[in-house]
Amino acid sequence: MFKFIKHFRTVREHRKMVRQGCFRVGLYMQGLTHDLSKYSPSEFLMGVKYYQGYRSPNNAEREAKGYSQAWIHHKGRNKHHYEYWTDYKPGYREGEGHAIVPTRMPKKYLVEMYVDRVAASAIYNKGHYTCDMPLQYYRKGDYTNLMEESTRTELEHLLKMLAEKGPDVTEAYIRNVILRFHPGARLASFIQSKVRIMASKRTLEILNVFEKMYGRQTRCYLNYEEPWQLLVATILSAQCTDARVNIITKDLFVKYKTIADIAGADISEFEQDIKQAGFYHSKAKNIIACAKMLTREFGGVVPSDIDELTQLPGVGRKTANVIRGNIYGIDSIVVDTHVKRISKRLGLTGEDDPEKIEFELMKRVPKDYWILINMWFITFGRTVCKAQSPKCQECQLAGYCRECDFLRKTSRKVQKKAPRSRKA
Ligand code: SF4
Repeated sequence: MFKFIKHFRTVREHRKMVRQGCFRVGLYMQGLTHDLSKYSPSEFLMGVKYYQGYRSPNNAEREAKGYSQAWIHHKGRNKHHYEYWTDYKPGYREGEGHAIVPTRMPKKYLVEMYVDRVAASAIYNKGHYTCDMPLQYYRKGDYTNLMEESTRTELEHLLKMLAEKGPDVTEAYIRNVILRFHPGARLASFIQSKVRIMASKRTLEILNVFEKMYGRQTRCYLNYEEPWQLLVATILSAQCTDARVNIITKDLFVKYKTIADIAGADISEFEQDIKQAGFYHSKAKNIIACAKMLTREFGGVVPSDIDELTQLPGVGRKTANVIRGNIYGIDSIVVDTHVKRISKRLGLTGEDDPEKIEFELMKRVPKDYWILINMWFITFGRTVCKAQSPKCQECQLAGYCRECDFLRKTSRKVQKKAPRSRKA
């Protein structure tokens, strides 16, 4: 029963992702009918029996039986698989009679195959999915004699574009170039442009409310005088409040006056100096290693380049962006716990992973607001939109809030279900 439910959910989730992908490029009928054969007993029951969760059950079935009955059933019924597009070619080789050869796939099925591969990769790689994974998977196979040459070239081109330029550019290319004569693609382009205009209008309205509330004056909640001090304070601030970090660094920066002093610090003593910040063993180890690398490889100067910063021990994208924004004034978005929570509540992102949130916000929010939203969201998160018990009654952004919408709908449902009181 457990495998039955899990497999059903995987199929449903996969179909949903493909449907959304097909709708975005205008293949509406294919989005609705994609992989329906997976619910047939021949495929579904085998899928349940060989369910694994991290790869296709067809592979497990092949290993067990030497072939996959479910796959043979599936490829004969779904035109988005290149295996469907083979045909006899009379006189293929002189004197050898007929041969079965791959034929060119119609564009709409080629695009459906691309969407299918991307969705499968996202589902089997779950939270680790990145845009280059479908290309990596494709490159593991040898399609030379199985997929018609122009189909192979076009698929590879799309997967490369996805890896290098992301899904939005690739989908726009599909709508405007590959499916340019398809009526659905024109409708999808129109819908996408409307959605983008509405989303950007909504985002600008949200930013205006924040600007009215907090102005454009930026500030950093961590106290520092030198760039290296901000770097140390930011590493300390993981899982710790800024107020506590400021108490610790007040004495710390008197005791250790330069980054070289920290590089030469005794680790046990340093651990005691920062103990109140929590996780002090790993933080002390990282800070001292970071200080050593800074003095050794960067002459004691905190770099501004994101790749150089993230090479330093204990420095991830969040810390690197704090440095870039506050020290160098480079437009950058810091996704901390407040930015993550508020972006989600205001519907500015649907992602959970901080890096994905950062890139989504970079796409949606105009660049001259990137540093500002760090300060706005943190202030708002601390004073109004707290993680526990947010002050929704006094929130000026309630009209844009997804969570508040949800709460309203939930309370409406509860009210409907509540028994009516009897008349006296
Ligand atoms: S309505 Fe409530 S949950 Fe929504 S943004 Fe405002 S404070 Fe946060």
